[in-house]
Amino acid sequence: MAASLGFRGAASGLWYWSGRRRPVASLAAVCSRSMASKTPVGFIGLGNMGNPMAKNLMKHGYPLILYDVFPDACKEFKEAGEQVASSPADVAEKADRIITMLPTSMNSVEVYSGANGILKKVKKGSLLIDSSTIDPSVSKELAKEVEKMGAVFMDAPVSGGVGAARSGNLTFMVGGVEDEFAAAQELLRCMGSHVVYCGAVGSGQSAKICNNMLLAISMIGTAEAMNLGIRSGLDPKLLAKILNMSSGRCWSSDTYNPVPGVMDGVPSSNNYQGGFGTTLMAKDLGLAQDTATSTKSPILLGSLAHQVYRMMCAKGYAKKDFSSVFQYLREEETF
Ligand code: NAD
Repeated sequence: MAASLGFRGAASGLWYWSGRRRPVASLAAVCSRSMASKTPVGFIGLGNMGNPMAKNLMKHGYPLILYDVFPDACKEFKEAGEQVASSPADVAEKADRIITMLPTSMNSVEVYSGANGILKKVKKGSLLIDSSTIDPSVSKELAKEVEKMGAVFMDAPVSGGVGAARSGNLTFMVGGVEDEFAAAQELLRCMGSHVVYCGAVGSGQSAKICNNMLLAISMIGTAEAMNLGIRSGLDPKLLAKILNMSSGRCWSSDTYNPVPGVMDGVPSSNNYQGGFGTTLMAKDLGLAQDTATSTKSPILLGSLAHQVYRMMCAKGYAKKDFSSVFQYLREEETF
């Protein structure tokens, strides 16, 4: 479904930023150790983030049961000897710990509650961790349904981007029953360097929504400042260096700079392919908007950022990384 709706961040044939193109031979070798001693973990949604996250579980010796609606996403895992399931229900039949990493609330609902969803076959006592960024109210609803089946649901959205997913340095924001946190941590520690308990189910999503609203705003700010400097005749690399030793420094300027050629290994230096799709950022800002309405919170810049990324989606940037806001601004000239 996600593919047809255009949520896929990285089509096949992209550069190494999308983990899908990495060679699998060495991966299989790394994963052979201690596999027998660990029970299988289900993983559903092997896109830009899910792919490297699943690989980190493999590196820690967990055998995987995988599913993605886009069959090619599972191909390299199958070649590395992992089991590919025929549906989320099939994953639930074979594994009692499952991680989902899907684009939107709608996709999570389908994977959990759909005709062939996890809930059709979930075993009592299973631990289900949703790392997708979705509406906190949807997480709460899913948790209720899961609880009725005698299993446990936790929301655990992530921050850090594809680079952190690959290096195992994600930050997980976890919501759910505190007694289950240790069990979730065992798996999440394989993929992240920070695993933070946030409170009741849905609170991980709330934290993630705040973070991404700030990121969306700071990326636009970085892109505007870089564009202004370049049009004033400054060298982009020099300007980035100055910002990064000054008070304007932020993650968007020093780790994920939006200007092509300023940094290696980021989407801006590869025509904004891979990374975090503009559609996904627009989705997260929509979640921030809903939360702001329900909590009566003013989010002036968050709302403006939402409109910017929505306009970008309508103007051909939907599948590009969200840092392409720099390119979008470059195409605009004002009086
Ligand atoms: P993606 O589009 O690259 O991957 C999503 C995967 O889910 C795809 O392979 C797709 O085929 C699969 N999928 C969709 N619907 C499905 C279904 N019904 N059943 C099975 N598989 C299905 O997205 P991504 O960039 O990996 O992001 C995933 C989630 O992580 C999103 O919620 C996003 O907001 C969040 N996130 C992304 C980043 C990032 O940098 N990309 C960073 C932090 C958080």
